[in-house]
Amino acid sequence: MPKRDYYEVLGVGRDCGPEDLKKAYRRLAMQYHPDRNQGDKQAEERFKEVGEAYTCLSDPQKRQRYDAFGHAGDGMPDMGGFSFDSAFDLFDMFFGGGRRGRARSGPQRGSDLRMNLEITLREAVFGSNRTVEVPRADTCPECSGSGAEPGTSPVQCPQCNGSGQVRRAVQSIFGQVVNVTACSRCRGEGRIVERPCRSCRGQGRVEIRKTIEVQIPAGVDEDVQVRVAGEGEAGPRGGPRGDLYLAFRIENHPHFTRRGQELIYELPVSVAQAVLGDRITVPTIDGEHILDLAAGTQDGRVIRISGMGVPHVRSGRRGDQLCVVRVVIPTHLNSKERKLYEQLEGRTGRPAEVRKGFFDHLKEALRG
Ligand SMILES: [Zn+2]
Ligand SMILES: [Zn+2]
Repeated sequence: MPKRDYYEVLGVGRDCGPEDLKKAYRRLAMQYHPDRNQGDKQAEERFKEVGEAYTCLSDPQKRQRYDAFGHAGDGMPDMGGFSFDSAFDLFDMFFGGGRRGRARSGPQRGSDLRMNLEITLREAVFGSNRTVEVPRADTCPECSGSGAEPGTSPVQCPQCNGSGQVRRAVQSIFGQVVNVTACSRCRGEGRIVERPCRSCRGQGRVEIRKTIEVQIPAGVDEDVQVRVAGEGEAGPRGGPRGDLYLAFRIENHPHFTRRGQELIYELPVSVAQAVLGDRITVPTIDGEHILDLAAGTQDGRVIRISGMGVPHVRSGRRGDQLCVVRVVIPTHLNSKERKLYEQLEGRTGRPAEVRKGFFDHLKEALRG
């Protein structure tokens, strides 16, 4: 089912301020709270949806990203793990209700993992496949995650007769309601292990170092996170895996400095090349590129090579390379060179005023 727009979920406008957001959340969370809508699956879903929408929109950073990218993929990695538990926690935070034991439905999901990868600028531009080693909790191979010693199996919990739930009448802010809580004996799992597996001590999980292949998309930057679904930690007793999130640090490159989607290169030229013009070979991240330097090129001029920059991580459209001309003044002259410069001196007169500095050139190029 496609996710509904968060503003629509809360019934507020796009310019809604924090106070109105709170009010909208309060009203809807009260209306759809499961204690008030016993067994109503739709209300339950709405309760979670309202919590998720509020969690996103009440955080200025998340809201900004949501406004820019919507629910699209890795634009919103943080909302991936929003669960019913998160919705209840938010509600309890708002209304000050103590956290009550709640029945979990099915096995618990494993935690998400985060990992930092050091990558080269080339990898950031073209993407790559990497083999990484992830230290994580994995399903125990001895008992296949059941937690029971091989040859035995978990038995039905005698306290809840396998339902994992205990029903109890309690006072809540809605008056007396029947509260369904997780069975304390089996912790909601409905089954108990009589003889725990020796290799995982009944946990169903063991710590391992897992080698996996990950794909680094072209265009990633240090503020982009990539989600690798289902490569996080295994849940206890055979629960589903969490996700793995990759963050990146990009190594410095000897030639290029990255600025968003642009690659900046300082292009050294001799005095004669700058004066007379020349055809020169320039490095790009794709390989060599031939550039025609115009006669009379000033120091600091910026020459744009289009399409040789960093691709946009979503659209794949590539930025440009900017070559900043650096006229290199010779410091050691042989006698012949010295003579030639001496001949020039006195004939050319004083140079005209400097009209533009390096920063003006760069600003102009970045605007263009
Ligand atoms: Zn085991
Ligand atoms: Zn039980």
